[in-house]
Amino acid sequence: MRIVRVHDKKFEPYLTAEMIQTRIKAIAAQLNKDYAGKKPVFIAILNGSFIFAADLFKELSIEVEICFIKLASYKGTRSTGQVITAIGLDMDIFGREVVIVEDIVDTGKTLSEFLPQLQHQQPASLKIVALLHKPEATVFPIPIDYLGFSIPNKFVVGYGLDYDGLGRNIPEIYKLTE
Ligand code: 5GP
Repeated sequence: MRIVRVHDKKFEPYLTAEMIQTRIKAIAAQLNKDYAGKKPVFIAILNGSFIFAADLFKELSIEVEICFIKLASYKGTRSTGQVITAIGLDMDIFGREVVIVEDIVDTGKTLSEFLPQLQHQQPASLKIVALLHKPEATVFPIPIDYLGFSIPNKFVVGYGLDYDGLGRNIPEIYKLTE
């Protein structure tokens, strides 16, 4: 088994490039069906989703737009604590069919804070496509409409996902060794 080292940690193969592409094709086929004639806008959340979003987008045969955003959290005033803000959402989503593209849903915190902000802009619909989901880690339940893989509560890298900045360029998904 090929072990890779990223920083101080060792990772072992988990999802092969072939498994990932097979799932992406299946998800894209469903999206092509569900969004035919609807001209949806995909909003991909950087950095982690850049490879997944690109591979998924190539499989879409419908009319579709894409926009990449970054979520930044900053300290809000007094009682509000951490606040998430979207950088780069320069598109009017009022009345649009919106699909969020996320690499991984872990506790669900990120999306639970971001989704209400998008809802506020009154899209016609708001759905989520995520490559990975860790059901055991759920703190804020998020309805994932299109899912690649449910995975155990283990840290993973590769295929766009990093460990402290590194590992995004590994073509498959690796998980932390025991
Ligand atoms: P949540 O807000 O759902 O807890 O976390 C979502 C974000 O945490 C993801 O977009 C990703 O950036 C990061 N994350 C959660 N689990 C993992 C993991 O196993 N590996 C990596 N590389 N990032 C993760």
